[in-house]
Amino acid sequence: MAPLLPPSRPGIPGSGLAKGLAVTLRTMTKRSHTAQYPDVQPELPPRTRGVIGLFEENCTVCMLCARECPDWCIYIDSHKETVPPAAPGGRERSRNVLDRFAIDFALCMYCGICIEVCPFDALFWSPEFEYAETDIHELTHERDKLREWMWTVPEPPALDPRAEEPKEITAARKAAEKAAAAAAAAEGEQR
Ligand code: SF4
Ligand code: SF4
Repeated sequence: MAPLLPPSRPGIPGSGLAKGLAVTLRTMTKRSHTAQYPDVQPELPPRTRGVIGLFEENCTVCMLCARECPDWCIYIDSHKETVPPAAPGGRERSRNVLDRFAIDFALCMYCGICIEVCPFDALFWSPEFEYAETDIHELTHERDKLREWMWTVPEPPALDPRAEEPKEITAARKAAEKAAAAAAAAEGEQR
């Protein structure tokens, strides 16, 4: 059977030691990059996955996040409420009311699936990471705490000026233009 590697040539005696010393000297003369945390806060990238914030006003209790979470660490309780009809003669509707929303960060693996799948933009990444606890049970953050994290969520990056207009903005703009045209027409009729 043919050899897999070419035969190694004998090197100059002591060359390995010289190379090692050269690396040591180079490293010794470089400035160190020691992070001075907690005296100096680290500069984190904008998409840091620190903790998850809940914007509960957007949550419809669809349960998608809890079903998709690979760790089963999202706990949601809700009940149904009957809403009276919007107009006389209409039908009553029922809606879900959130009773509990909690995430156990002792189990969470920060995969971000819950945030990706939420169809109503109710979950967001916050870069906050200073929430270590001495009691593991304290790492289950309930609804109020998750709501508080929303204040630490950074603003979304500006839209690319060459990107297509988002369909929500197009719809809102068309509705505003239609309303303005209707108002102008009504004003013209009054004169
Ligand atoms: S980040 Fe992943 S593991 Fe953590 S709660 Fe969301 S889906 Fe579950
Ligand atoms: S996926 Fe979004 S809207 Fe649905 S329950 Fe989770 S947070 Fe609420």
